[in-house]
Amino acid sequence: VQSVRPWFALPESKPLESVVVIGAGLAGCHLAYELAERGHHVKLLDAGPEIASGASGNQAGIIKPFVTREPNLVDEYYAAAFDYLLRLLFANPSLSDAASFNQCGVLQLLNKAYPNNNHYTACSQQEASSIAGVNIQSEAIFFAKAGWLKPANLCRALVKHPRIQIQLNCNVKRLEQRIAGWAIHCAGLTDEVIQSQKVVITNGHHISRFAQTTFLPIVSARGQTSHFKFKKQQALKTVVTGSRYLIPTTEELIVGASFDRDNENRKLSPTDHKENFLSIEKLTDSINVFEDAVNGFCAIRATTPDRLPLIGPVPNAPAYANDYANLKQGLPDSRFPTASYLQNLFVLGGFGSRGIVSAAFSAQLLAEFISGEIGTEQQALSQWMDLCHPGRFLIRDLKRGIPVTA
Ligand SMILES: Cc1cc2nc3c(=O)[nH]c(=O)nc-3n(C[C@H](O)[C@H](O)[C@H](O)COP(=O)(O)OP(=O)(O)OC[C@H]3O[C@@H](n4cnc5c(N)ncnc54)[C@H](O)[C@@H]3O)c2cc1C
Repeated sequence: VQSVRPWFALPESKPLESVVVIGAGLAGCHLAYELAERGHHVKLLDAGPEIASGASGNQAGIIKPFVTREPNLVDEYYAAAFDYLLRLLFANPSLSDAASFNQCGVLQLLNKAYPNNNHYTACSQQEASSIAGVNIQSEAIFFAKAGWLKPANLCRALVKHPRIQIQLNCNVKRLEQRIAGWAIHCAGLTDEVIQSQKVVITNGHHISRFAQTTFLPIVSARGQTSHFKFKKQQALKTVVTGSRYLIPTTEELIVGASFDRDNENRKLSPTDHKENFLSIEKLTDSINVFEDAVNGFCAIRATTPDRLPLIGPVPNAPAYANDYANLKQGLPDSRFPTASYLQNLFVLGGFGSRGIVSAAFSAQLLAEFISGEIGTEQQALSQWMDLCHPGRFLIRDLKRGIPVTA
């Protein structure tokens, strides 16, 4: 079902000849996998010396649907994303084994009760404590099918595919539109220009750093996890989330994650370790770990103003500024032309704190669209454009009468 709004109408998708994906985090690796599984040859570029050099290099992350007290389309998107990721993992033991997927369940602690929902069970403080195996401080909702996995290992497993070619140490500096597609200017061990019919930008918090994407309102947010050694045999059976989260592995308790906007420093911070340590007792008072973190992970998230990702073709921002300049006047939609895009250029990113659970589904939607396949109703990209269209912030500003700089 095509979105009825002209500014979110998708362009016609042409058959795929060659595709380059820029950025080998979860977004790029899931997308490369989805395209390769559809029979396409993919070149995956990354500036780093290895796969998952950015936020996806995390050693453990939670997968659970995001829910609100009053379910809406955003909840539906995350429910679809969670279900898709579970199906992918269960259908491919090589992926779930590599990612050490642990479906131990996730308890989300609440200050105010949530109505029941088929993704979770509401439980009292006593029930939550019994499920967790430790004393839990408040009532909770329990996601029995949720759990945690190792994102970096999942990335590496996804790209072990005969149709995916990986090029590391390749820092894409500039994209240039040519008649037959795109010239991708890379700085690396040697400077190089790679040609491709289609290009997908999946480079995390750098997605708005190309001349074609500067209008994407990405804000960097630093996050740090801390790993603590248990003092004695640990009893925690599930993941626990609240203001922070606890992931029990066999040897360590992983506590995360700090959230610090406009900070791109990737050095581990002792202050964040301390805050992570102090957050444990707000979730449970019956876990004993040594106070000094033995390890940790720090990286930069790419956040958007509405916390939803950017999935789809890259809008032609100057054309949007011109075509939709009168949106604030409240004219009927039919008075506006359909959207203009930069041909054969796509973006997948802005996953913020939820990329581990949502990148697979989002990549699948985009792969299907790029390949020119017609998805089922829920799985078609057009179904989610009100939430995830890359031009939605341009439209929001134009509706408010804020001139857009493109
Ligand atoms: C501490 C922390 C904890 C988190 N916990 C969770 C969680 O529990 N559950 C959850 O769902 N999500 C979680 N997240 C969020 C999740 O990790 C991210 O949303 C996800 O990893 C984003 O993936 P990505 O591929 O978009 O970006 P990234 O993983 O950052 O990948 C971007 C890649 O692009 C490359 N790159 C950048 N610029 C260029 C360039 N110019 N040329 C070539 N390559 C380039 C980088 O080297 C990098 O490899 C957490 C994030 C952090 C930081």
